[in-house]
Amino acid sequence: MPSHDEILQSLRAVIDPELRQDIVELGMVRSIEQPGDGAVAVMVSLTTPGCPIRSHFQTAVAKAVGALEGVTRVDVAFDVLSEQERGALQRKLGRSGGLPDGALAQVANVVCVGSGKGGVGKSTITANLAAALAADGKRVGVLDADVWGYSIPRMFGVSGRPPVSADRKIIPLEATGGVKVMSIGFFVAEDSAVVWRGPMLHKALTQFLEDVDWGELDFLLVDLPPGTGDVAMTLAQLLPQARFLLVTTPQATAQKVARRSAEMAGKVNLEIGGVVENMSGFVTPGGERFAIFGEGGGQELADELDVPLLGKVPLTMPLREQSDAGKPLVFTDPDDPAAQGIRQIARGLIAMFPTELPMLQVVPVAGAGDAAPRKPSGISLPMAG
Ligand code: ADP
Repeated sequence: MPSHDEILQSLRAVIDPELRQDIVELGMVRSIEQPGDGAVAVMVSLTTPGCPIRSHFQTAVAKAVGALEGVTRVDVAFDVLSEQERGALQRKLGRSGGLPDGALAQVANVVCVGSGKGGVGKSTITANLAAALAADGKRVGVLDADVWGYSIPRMFGVSGRPPVSADRKIIPLEATGGVKVMSIGFFVAEDSAVVWRGPMLHKALTQFLEDVDWGELDFLLVDLPPGTGDVAMTLAQLLPQARFLLVTTPQATAQKVARRSAEMAGKVNLEIGGVVENMSGFVTPGGERFAIFGEGGGQELADELDVPLLGKVPLTMPLREQSDAGKPLVFTDPDDPAAQGIRQIARGLIAMFPTELPMLQVVPVAGAGDAAPRKPSGISLPMAG
């Protein structure tokens, strides 16, 4: 029979898909018992009673321990971390805000799209990347966290107040291609100047991650505000598993500011996934190419950060026009050179973030204490006016 330690070691293969660490490291293995005859009973502590990934743990624990020599049966049971234990886990994960309580457990990959400064096409790229991922059969959501310049709703041509479900979750609006969209813009009167800062901003973003019913997603793209402010810090705390995609233009000055934002991402331990160069030249209908914003900045930045340059997107009139018209170009004219560039980046992202969703079926487990329902969370986004 394996020893207690050997069983514990085998459990390192069981990864919490949301926190991206193994359950031993996370302190979620409550007990290991060996009642005899090759049976092993493992108790796993969940962060929340209604944890939607319970069945994932059930299967993964049974598989890891069952593979040890001499083990004939594995019983997996669950309990829930106490408030105190959850607090300790939060501190360990370096989060000051609340744990997402399994809110994003059904989201396989979170990609934050940022830029050093405004106007480099970050939102345009985010919207069209979402469209391109959807066109490749992925389930995609976009969270517009560019709280000072929300433009995602306009780019997808969606507006209105999102509905709230019976269990008090905000339902994202659905755009063409089934892309789920959520934005602070849905909650404020058009053109009103709401100053989102500090605790209020933190709260609103936390709600967008916890209280929005994103459902099962392969990718959640988060459109960050430009620069290196509060929002990125907050999101890095709430989404330690996210990767950062940096959008820049080819010129040297843009690259310099983009690097600052990369440094910030590094400071808060957000992993940088890659660089996208936008506005990379303009090709006339006659085929003549003009490097309007210079050349090579994206590649230089990628080299400096030692991450891949995921692609270059040229300037094209249709990209601008379709963004203004609320129809992502990737859907309306997939052959446009800019749309092609973005589709290539989407393929790069798919290759780079191969994480599939864990099994999501919730199966009742004996003794798992299903009784306690998830506490309904209040929706208290400040409204304009
Ligand atoms: P950011 O989010 O970085 O502030 P936006 O995505 O709002 O920038 O883009 C700024 C403007 O530039 C928008 O009008 C957008 O349509 C336009 N734009 C962005 N990228 C391109 C491109 N490759 N070709 C043409 N227009 C573009």
